[in-house]
Amino acid sequence: VQKEKRLLQEAHEYSAKLYHYLLQNLEAARPAKAYLQSRGLSDALIEQFGIGYAPPRWDTLTQALERKGYPAREMETGGLLSKRQDAEEYVDRFRDRVMFPIHDARGQTIAFAGRLLTDGQPKYLNSPETPLFAKSRTLYRLHEARSAIRKLGQVVLFEGYMDVIKAWSAGVHNGVATMGTALTAEHAAVLRRFAEEAVICYDGDDAGQAAAHKSIPLLEEAGFRVRVSLLPNRMDPDEYVTSYGPEAFVREIVEGAVSAVKFQLIYLRKSHILLEEDGRIRYLRDAVRIVAKRNSPMERELLLKELAQEFGVALDTLKQESLEYRQREK
Ligand code: ATP
Ligand code: MN
Ligand code: MN
Ligand code: MN
Repeated sequence: VQKEKRLLQEAHEYSAKLYHYLLQNLEAARPAKAYLQSRGLSDALIEQFGIGYAPPRWDTLTQALERKGYPAREMETGGLLSKRQDAEEYVDRFRDRVMFPIHDARGQTIAFAGRLLTDGQPKYLNSPETPLFAKSRTLYRLHEARSAIRKLGQVVLFEGYMDVIKAWSAGVHNGVATMGTALTAEHAAVLRRFAEEAVICYDGDDAGQAAAHKSIPLLEEAGFRVRVSLLPNRMDPDEYVTSYGPEAFVREIVEGAVSAVKFQLIYLRKSHILLEEDGRIRYLRDAVRIVAKRNSPMERELLLKELAQEFGVALDTLKQESLEYRQREK
């Protein structure tokens, strides 16, 4: 097994170099290069992130791996090649895609994500789960972000590869992303070794906000203090950097991230109609419950005060409601 993994590891290293070389040198990679440029990725970023290109042919990597003596069957298990249906024939898994190498915490290439240059499905094709690659444990760019995460005591969590790259270009070097899957307790535990604060910087659409909502308890259970970035609706961090620039991104989105409880209160508003009285009452009740879960009496008081002011309710009433809820939950 060890030998098999080592071989696969080497093959990934080799494939990453090949894809990168092809992007930088192949005539047929011009559109891919132009695509990356149009998305704001300079040559320096392409180098730094080892980005590559898998040509449209079915046999680019298949042939290259064979020439190097890597057995096709094992390369298929490793997710670099695919098997033609009903035939002992192997073909490239990734074709006509921009290739993002994915590393483990030690910096070894263990997988790829390949993005189409145009609209189509699937937009991103990832390596499958293999002996080297477990999505539930892997975080994109952890090997490079780790030192900044440790130094700042803070990790910034993104949804997408492009978000991590654009944030990096804006000077945010403590960013990582999951593999297009939800954050897991394992991810949180890995990150908690390096930082006490997590900033959730997911997309501004409903899916991103729902994912943020789900990630909060997971991170808090791992012992993180959690903050959440508020992106304009339908914008992701990558688009924000492009539209408003790096300084605004750092200031408004990363530094301006609100506390988890503030986010939960904002999120709660989406499911209540505040123009109607019973909507307001239900919102207040749910909001007080969120506040009641906080352990710090001072934090609870400040939040309740804000709610009392906004809704024209006596602070004492909200305090009592919160107290009753806390006693019931014990
Ligand atoms: P881009 O900016 O390149 O369009 P994105 O990161 O904004 O990509 P989203 O649609 O926001 O893409 O999805 C977030 C992440 O989810 C992606 O980075 C990728 O990891 C994953 N993902 C998205 N679409 C797919 C897909 N069809 N198959 C697998 N993973 C996907
Ligand atoms: Mn290079
Ligand atoms: Mn996105
Ligand atoms: Mn995007």
